[in-house]
Amino acid sequence: MIQRRDTRPPIRVSFEFFPPKTPAMEESLWSAIQRLAPLQPDFVSVTYGAGGSTRERTHHTVERILKETDLAPAAHLTCVDASRAEVDDVVRQYRATGVKHFVALRGDGQGGAGSAYVPHPEGYRNGAELAAGIKAIDPEIEVSVSAYPEKHPESPDFATDIDLLKRKVDNGATRAITQFFFDNDLYERYVERARRAGIYVPIVPGIVPIHDFSKVARFSAATGTSIPLWLAERFEGLENDPQTRSHVAAAVCAEQVLDLVDRGISDFHFYTMNRADLVYSICHILGLRETAPVREAAAA
Ligand code: FAD
Repeated sequence: MIQRRDTRPPIRVSFEFFPPKTPAMEESLWSAIQRLAPLQPDFVSVTYGAGGSTRERTHHTVERILKETDLAPAAHLTCVDASRAEVDDVVRQYRATGVKHFVALRGDGQGGAGSAYVPHPEGYRNGAELAAGIKAIDPEIEVSVSAYPEKHPESPDFATDIDLLKRKVDNGATRAITQFFFDNDLYERYVERARRAGIYVPIVPGIVPIHDFSKVARFSAATGTSIPLWLAERFEGLENDPQTRSHVAAAVCAEQVLDLVDRGISDFHFYTMNRADLVYSICHILGLRETAPVREAAAA
């Protein structure tokens, strides 16, 4: 946590990674982690693939973070295709290796984002039930959950969506991390709705740096995230110009986070896509600077 020079609360960041599939991807993940670690994130989280498809890789990545860094890892966990007993076993295994924080999720249907979700007959049905299950194993474990500023596509309305978020918090979640979004007004309105419903935990904005606009646009369509016209226009005509694209992406992301800072937000969760470059720049703009690890500083 790094103190800024003004009177606003200190900025805190967290970084999300996905478990690598190949040795080359593992190398680029670790170079991203090494680049971002000196910024002293509050925690780093590692995603869990559809249907538990990355179960071993997620576990391996989390374990390596625990062994080789001073970072606090949070393991994502979903309810997809698993009984409660199976999910509980995974929680206990993580706990045995020293993991103290989970991101509890329902997950997507077998056909991916947007497909119908069929719960396992003996499984947890959603993030709220999973949060309760984790807390039942160890009340000391920290649980974060998801939140959707534009509501989850399966929620019929905001009231239903917020009601589920409330259940997640009532079941022990102490932080919500949002789906990525580009319209800060929508985020602010969602937070106001949550507060009116008696939800007082931090609702941390999930920020996605746009490395590839067409990919982000496709993913946005699948997850119900709206792309404002001005954003599409910023990337117009840059399909074959990666250098300008990356400058525009940094500017767009900085604009979004600085506007959120102006609205009083001090915690940010970055979807890094296992890349450090853009996230590092944005954190620098936010005022974060590298700090020597405490152990080294004490030894010096
Ligand atoms: P929930 O919030 O539990 O539920 C989603 C919606 O389903 C609800 O809003 C409601 O409309 C409906 N619903 C829930 N319970 C019921 C019920 N009993 N009856 C009827 N309808 C119900 N996906 C992964 O596969 N791996 C990850 O690591 C991962 N990490 C993520 C991290 C964050 C911060 C976010 C925001 C999303 C992440 N996702 C991940 C995506 C997530 O799995 C999908 O968005 C999924 O569709 C919903 O999961 P959830 O936990 O948000 O679901």
